[in-house]
Amino acid sequence: VLAPRIVLDRDPQAHLRGLKTIPAVERTADPCIECGFCEPTCPSNDLTTTPRQRIVLRREMLRQADGSPVEQRLLEAYGYDAVDTCAGDSTCKLACPVGIDTGALMKDFRHARHSPREERIAALTARHFRAVEGAARLAVGAADRMGDGLLERVTGFARKAVRPDLVPEWLPEIPGAAPRRLPRTHRPAAVAVYYPACVNRIFGNPDGTPGPSLPEAVVAVSARAGRPVWIPEDVAGTCCATIWHSKGYEAGNEVMANRIVEAAWGWTAGGRLPLVVDASSCTLGIAHEVVPHLTEDNRALHAELTVLDSLVWAADELLPRLEARRRVDSAVVHPTCSMRHLGDTGQLTAVAEFCAEEVVVPVDAGCCAFAGDRGMLHPELTASATAREAAEVTARPFDAHLSANRMCEIGMDRATGRRYVSALLALERATRP
Ligand code: SF4
Ligand code: SF4
Repeated sequence: VLAPRIVLDRDPQAHLRGLKTIPAVERTADPCIECGFCEPTCPSNDLTTTPRQRIVLRREMLRQADGSPVEQRLLEAYGYDAVDTCAGDSTCKLACPVGIDTGALMKDFRHARHSPREERIAALTARHFRAVEGAARLAVGAADRMGDGLLERVTGFARKAVRPDLVPEWLPEIPGAAPRRLPRTHRPAAVAVYYPACVNRIFGNPDGTPGPSLPEAVVAVSARAGRPVWIPEDVAGTCCATIWHSKGYEAGNEVMANRIVEAAWGWTAGGRLPLVVDASSCTLGIAHEVVPHLTEDNRALHAELTVLDSLVWAADELLPRLEARRRVDSAVVHPTCSMRHLGDTGQLTAVAEFCAEEVVVPVDAGCCAFAGDRGMLHPELTASATAREAAEVTARPFDAHLSANRMCEIGMDRATGRRYVSALLALERATRP
């Protein structure tokens, strides 16, 4: 009498009646409890949506009647607000108590909207990557001579004519081309195989930065520490596959993932030598992200490899054997999302502390959302993601701005107007006789 349908109720679901429904969406997102722990880490949280909101919006679509105006509007907005502006850094997974990788889900959506023709072209690019890489280096060199204003106008026009998610915007911070030849190295004495990532084979140092290229610096400082490295002659045409993985191009991703593992297995004599990679997102790609896309045979080869980020190589193998001859007064570091996944942000700080009297890790350091080329496709994403960190960095001068991932460095250059370089370049300089 006092609580009709509450104390005694024939409905077995009575405890759920009146509560918000949780329709099933994608299997990876279904365990989401909408707690929001993932929100502060998300680089798009001030621009468009957070990981929680990306999942909540999918649930709301499923609650709507088929073809309803609300469902239509949600679908229209979801392309940009959720899928395009996801940096794919998956730091949401690190924060999520049930391990949901909303970034991986957004990449699945990117894959789903590719036409078979787009997938074929992406796979073709992977198969002929040696030519693509050479052409990219030439194009970057030519672009450097053309001037930023003209390129900004040309790419701006193309973006309007095609789609902003396909045509990158030219940014004045994009550096000139890397030297055509990698430094000469010798295999017999080498204690590690050095794999210069394709971004470091295409892009050179920031404009106006004197001194050696990153590959020259890594080779020199490793030899100086008595730990010489060898660069295989046939690295051109290989890559960590992140270019295809991050855009959801599955066929291209499979081609390159298998190619790099087969090549690395040969270079390292079946895993006898470690493979040192000089860009943290590429280290993450080769060490972990390629695995689900490998053939069974190549998965066995991959298990025998030791893939080291250049920061781990520097901190563990080089620092104990080197002497700092000239240190700068202050350095600020930018730990990348890949370093957080790899667990080597401490090594970045260690290398920076070797090179500078004072090292600052910004309180608001987070993913820069440059994400390979996403920062060129959607510059507003990097601008929003880096706003707080950039404000902290530009509040005072620093003698050095250090990271270890070329594209993130370009993103941070743009955000701060400063010049970020790999910590290994700083290490070479600090220990130069
Ligand atoms: S942290 Fe995980 S469970 Fe919580 S809202 Fe984000 S995705 Fe959902
Ligand atoms: S991958 Fe990055 S941008 Fe995408 S939802 Fe996760 S934290 Fe946000």
